[in-house]
Amino acid sequence: MSAPRLNLTHDAQARSWLASAHGSDFPIQNLPYGRFRRAGSQEALRCGVAIGDQVLDLGHLSAQPDWLSAAGVDTALATRAAQAAGRDLRELMRIGPDAWHALRVALFLALREDAAPQVQQTLMAAMTAQSQAEMATPVQVGEYTDFYTSLHHARNVGLAIGNGGLVTPNFFWMPIAYHGRASSLGVNQRLHRPLGQAMAPGAQQPVYGPSQRLDYELEMAIYIGQDNDWGRPVPMAQAESQIFGMGLLNDWSARDIQFWEMAPLGPFQGKNFATSLSPWIVTMEALAPFRLPFTRAEEHPQPLPYLDAAALRSHGGLDIGLSVSLQTAQMRSQGQAAQEISRTNFKHQHWCVSQMVVQHTIGGCNLRAGDVLGTGTVSGPTEAEAGAIIELAKAGQQPITLVSGEQRSFLLDGDAIVLRGRCERPGAVRIGFGECAGEVLPSVNG
Ligand code: CA
Repeated sequence: MSAPRLNLTHDAQARSWLASAHGSDFPIQNLPYGRFRRAGSQEALRCGVAIGDQVLDLGHLSAQPDWLSAAGVDTALATRAAQAAGRDLRELMRIGPDAWHALRVALFLALREDAAPQVQQTLMAAMTAQSQAEMATPVQVGEYTDFYTSLHHARNVGLAIGNGGLVTPNFFWMPIAYHGRASSLGVNQRLHRPLGQAMAPGAQQPVYGPSQRLDYELEMAIYIGQDNDWGRPVPMAQAESQIFGMGLLNDWSARDIQFWEMAPLGPFQGKNFATSLSPWIVTMEALAPFRLPFTRAEEHPQPLPYLDAAALRSHGGLDIGLSVSLQTAQMRSQGQAAQEISRTNFKHQHWCVSQMVVQHTIGGCNLRAGDVLGTGTVSGPTEAEAGAIIELAKAGQQPITLVSGEQRSFLLDGDAIVLRGRCERPGAVRIGFGECAGEVLPSVNG
């Protein structure tokens, strides 16, 4: 099998007539989807596409589809795709990859610098500055599952909490996960420190109160684009076409609550109080230039045949640079910018996105358009590439020191976390994921 097909929408020479697109996270080669309304308004949320510093309103555009033919893509499928997205992104998702591609080509041609003046005018009239937009989760998420696919994260946390970095045997044979809550997913969340039970080492009974060990987890979100019928597993050959795109995800974690509650059924209140998403879904088609072969080191078991495929071996992986920044309340009040505290890459995950979809459905579980799969914390092979503060600060034994002189073992009230992601390689235009931001507030009784 060959690498995913590149097409005219990946042309590294192409530029938009919108000047702010060039050099931004959102050049014409990206075109991610989100949901927005004008800030301060009570308008219904609308589907939009990010280009430069603007949001293009697909609801507005799909009401006057003449721009499609003027842009040179007078196809029924592109029109149907634009109208579906204008109503609800999940409608576009359900039509399938051919429609996703048709709309991407249409938007690309209409935004490219050689687009006809009347097309440019139509699109400009459908734009809102991102600084004037209030963003929501990019789709109304139906269900949310969180995987656990970084061997480095698993080992780092094990070492930090004193189990010697022991990883359970199942990790090496399949992508493991638990079912989370969709109701507490959000963007730009200002979350209250959760209350719960925690058991200190050696204590006779647990204490109840605000979590003392609040953490973030640097993850990516996989957005399911296509339903699979109940009882019908998705094979590896189809798994990629079930995925619409990806975003950033912060799986806020209360470690003290989590470690007391999680045996034997898994995380519950240590995770379910908040999960932050970035506002944009970068499509799998936009990510096509940044694919990597899947490889499995010889010291680990090779995947069972149902989790393996030639296409996985040629381009199942993804080269996505990721970073975490922290800004304390003190830094904010003194005008100090957020400080980058770690940097890693999604390519270090032990399991790929297609394998997660297959494992989720192999027993017959039905995924639906708009569902989110978290990839699990993304940590790399070195200490500086850790995707959670429990790893960076060794579970509190080695607090990190910030540029402000403050120290952190876990997050304190007022701390803001920003995740960022970007893809770059020679011969391709850099694309970005925007920001996944959130801030910790005191507990509700604090
Ligand atoms: Ca997680």
